[in-house]
Amino acid sequence: MEATLRQGLTALELPTENVCSFLRYGEMLIETNKVMNLTAITEPKDVATLHFLDCAALAHLYDFKGKKVADVGTGAGFPGIPLKLVEPSIDLTLLDSLNKRIDFLKEVCSALDLKQVECIHGRAEEFAADHRESYDVVTSRAVANLQMLSELCLPLVKEGGYFLSMKSVESEEEINSAKKAIATLGGKIEKCVDYTIPGTDVSHRLVLIKKVAPTPKKYPRAFAKIKKSPL
Ligand code: SAM
Repeated sequence: MEATLRQGLTALELPTENVCSFLRYGEMLIETNKVMNLTAITEPKDVATLHFLDCAALAHLYDFKGKKVADVGTGAGFPGIPLKLVEPSIDLTLLDSLNKRIDFLKEVCSALDLKQVECIHGRAEEFAADHRESYDVVTSRAVANLQMLSELCLPLVKEGGYFLSMKSVESEEEINSAKKAIATLGGKIEKCVDYTIPGTDVSHRLVLIKKVAPTPKKYPRAFAKIKKSPL
């Protein structure tokens, strides 16, 4: 895992100082996964590429330096923790609706001695009531389709900030179907960037959505509403 990580981070022009923390995080993920459902990816090399380098790649594509970041539906910490390890200057909120995953993340933060990281058990659409438009950047990977996900994430983003959504390279139709919702919520797709995870032939897509106007106060709605009648 170590060589794969070092080579991958170097290829992404990212620092390798925290490789030991990545290794410890990888051990905790694989160990805890034996008793708690955290990930389907369990081979150390695959954890290094498909989780760690996939997530770290965002810091190659976008400058996170000093940003206040919320990772919505973070699960076992993706992409939030890898981002913190390659860009320690971020102030990070890890949000998930499953408390046992949040408990795992608290243990990881303590073991890795991470500062300026908050692990919060909650639903994004409810969290927005007190944290509306207060983040420079909101990230999300594998949580919902972009149409619904935009209503969970865009209300949290400050005007001028970004919602960075990690998607597959086959997301053309999904992105097109979300355009109306994104505009309604005050967002605008600035660009989509496809990237290949170092050490693999796997390509993913980052959708960069800029917050260009405030989100109307009536959004986000309750989850049942978002699901039943997506914008
Ligand atoms: N982002 C991680 C990753 O890429 O490995 C986890 C993906 S997992 C498939 C989706 C996660 O989103 C789950 O941990 C789930 O509890 C969380 N989730 C789903 N809906 C949510 C919501 N409305 N608010 C907060 N978390 C949510």
